[in-house]
Amino acid sequence: MRILITNDDGVQAPGLYILVKNLQQVGQVRVIAPEREQSASGHAVTLHKPLRLTPTELPGVDGEVFACNGTPADCVILGILTDSAPPDLVVAGINGGANLGEEVLYSGTVSAAMEAAIQGIRSFAISIASYNEVDFAPAARFARRLAMLLNELDLPDNSFLNVNVPPVPAEQIQGIAVTRLGHRAYINRIDQREDPRGETYYWFSGDPTESDSAPGTDIAAIAENKISITPAHFDLTNHEILDNLNPLLEGLREW
Ligand code: MN
Repeated sequence: MRILITNDDGVQAPGLYILVKNLQQVGQVRVIAPEREQSASGHAVTLHKPLRLTPTELPGVDGEVFACNGTPADCVILGILTDSAPPDLVVAGINGGANLGEEVLYSGTVSAAMEAAIQGIRSFAISIASYNEVDFAPAARFARRLAMLLNELDLPDNSFLNVNVPPVPAEQIQGIAVTRLGHRAYINRIDQREDPRGETYYWFSGDPTESDSAPGTDIAAIAENKISITPAHFDLTNHEILDNLNPLLEGLREW
């Protein structure tokens, strides 16, 4: 199995390193990751500047490792197009910080997995639900097992998995839950400050506000110390109102 690994925390992030060390036990790894942190960079791709891959070393890692000056989605596209054959699997992570609910829309890590799905390659994103320094080992071991399983299993077209792991020791993890996304909005505060020249600048911040953490959601699973696996796809169509919208738009039909 040939595995392309990326993240949005940067090529030097500890979560990437432990992921690579674990996945190289089950496949041939190639790492292309941003040269610096790109958290919350979403699905951006770089069209207006040259992209470069700088060979880099990670201790004890056998495969190729590159630092990329682009985004996580760039890394996936480059990883697919600069190799002799496409990878069998793309894994993004292990992200430091959860990717639950609406966070998946901002996440560079999740977008990397989504880009792989767009390119027709099976993939998953994996995150640990804490910004503090925690042990990535249980998540890395789980990633290894999931990679092996995905090698045997075919996901439907345009689909990928979003995995969140609770930040607790392995023996405290209460199993695995297949979940839907809850609702968890993040950026809800703005700091307005003044720079040394007297000009105003702004800085986003906020605390997660969970408006749907019902049983069955990714948020509920993490709260119960379960590993959450959300099957995801990129069809943003609102199927619920698809049929109902037509009559509502009747007045717009006259040109
Ligand atoms: Mn990140």
